Amino acid sequence: MKVGVIKCDRYQKDLLKDALTRSVGLLGGFENIIEPDDKVLLKPNLLLAAKPDRAVTTHPLFLEACIEIISQHIPVGNITIADSPGAGIAYTAEKLNKVYRQTGIMDVAQKTGCVLNQDPGYQTVALKEGKAIKKIDVINPALEADKIINLCKWKTHTLTTMTGAVKNMFGVVPGFSKVGHHLRFTSVEAFTQMLVDIACHMKPALSIMDGILGMEGEGPGMKGTPRHIGLVLASTDCLAMDAVVAKLMGLDTESLPLLRLEGVPAFDDIQLRGEISPEYVIKDFILPTTAGRKQVMENRFANKYLMPLAKTLLNPYPVTDQATCTLCGTCQKVCPHQAIKIRGKQVKFDYRRCLRCFCCSELCPEGAVSIKYKWLANLLLNKAGWGGKRKALKHSEND
Ligand code: SF4
Ligand code: SF4
Repeated sequence: MKVGVIKCDRYQKDLLKDALTRSVGLLGGFENIIEPDDKVLLKPNLLLAAKPDRAVTTHPLFLEACIEIISQHIPVGNITIADSPGAGIAYTAEKLNKVYRQTGIMDVAQKTGCVLNQDPGYQTVALKEGKAIKKIDVINPALEADKIINLCKWKTHTLTTMTGAVKNMFGVVPGFSKVGHHLRFTSVEAFTQMLVDIACHMKPALSIMDGILGMEGEGPGMKGTPRHIGLVLASTDCLAMDAVVAKLMGLDTESLPLLRLEGVPAFDDIQLRGEISPEYVIKDFILPTTAGRKQVMENRFANKYLMPLAKTLLNPYPVTDQATCTLCGTCQKVCPHQAIKIRGKQVKFDYRRCLRCFCCSELCPEGAVSIKYKWLANLLLNKAGWGGKRKALKHSEND
């Protein structure tokens, strides 16, 4: 369980190639991972059609640098780029091309000559070893590849607190199939176990994280805030990579369900190599407001004296900023439980139906959906410091 971390300040091709080569070099190098005849899938994070400077998706230059390195080991025609964007976005060539164009990935494919997936096909596969899930739909290029290279992005996530190497593998599940998983796994713990099942089954040969321009706050979509992090991370173990990123973000087992799952290595058991010290935590990193959700929801005082009112008062909920909303209807389409209706010129939420999956916030192209708490939860968050920013500040250390 090794994780290589190299500093890289900006998206400049020669710097990126150097950082990628050195970070993977700390694990033995690309030559130890890719065989001469391999068909390789590059799986970036292409959550939605967003420009690279929004930090929602893996940067196109990061991908381009990676392709140029890998094509020294295999023919460029053996390299395919594929992803299925966020839950509820139809997995069709038309929708994929829209995402490819906006994120700059289409230009990368044209420039390098690698294959850009247009096949909307998928197959159902069994996950015998899965703890939460035993069967999933997987997009064809992920099944056809000899090796998957997981090009994940450093981001926060309102549902799972962070999204890194493990959650990026959820993108092998085609568009609408993801909705079913949100419906079935309504607790964060169960949803996270399902993500781990998928990542362990797909077993990417290598995960490389674009942590140069990362995201903090209300990620992983347009509501999140880009933040310069300046790191490239590499590992052959996606669980170990996320354990390191969690530590750098200032998260611990209390605040991140992923770290409590069986099979996820403890930070101290991971060999951290490269350019940061094991004590390093990013100063003032802002977590999503939902990061303190577990502590708020399980608050003993509120639950003892205010039940059943407490659940309503403590649970975070989505709201729309009508000034930013363009009434595009995406949130209504992606909501897995039909809890959103557009009536007249307003987006209306049915909070009795709402699962708190926050797909609406994740996929709103305008970043118009915020997550709010009622007064009691706000009081607890502010008083106890369970909110994202306070938590990060409390854990701040620097090397
Ligand atoms: S997705 Fe965003 S912009 Fe579109 S209708 Fe919903 S809140 Fe408005
Ligand atoms: S309204 Fe509720 S259930 Fe629907 S997408 Fe938003 S958070 Fe999920």
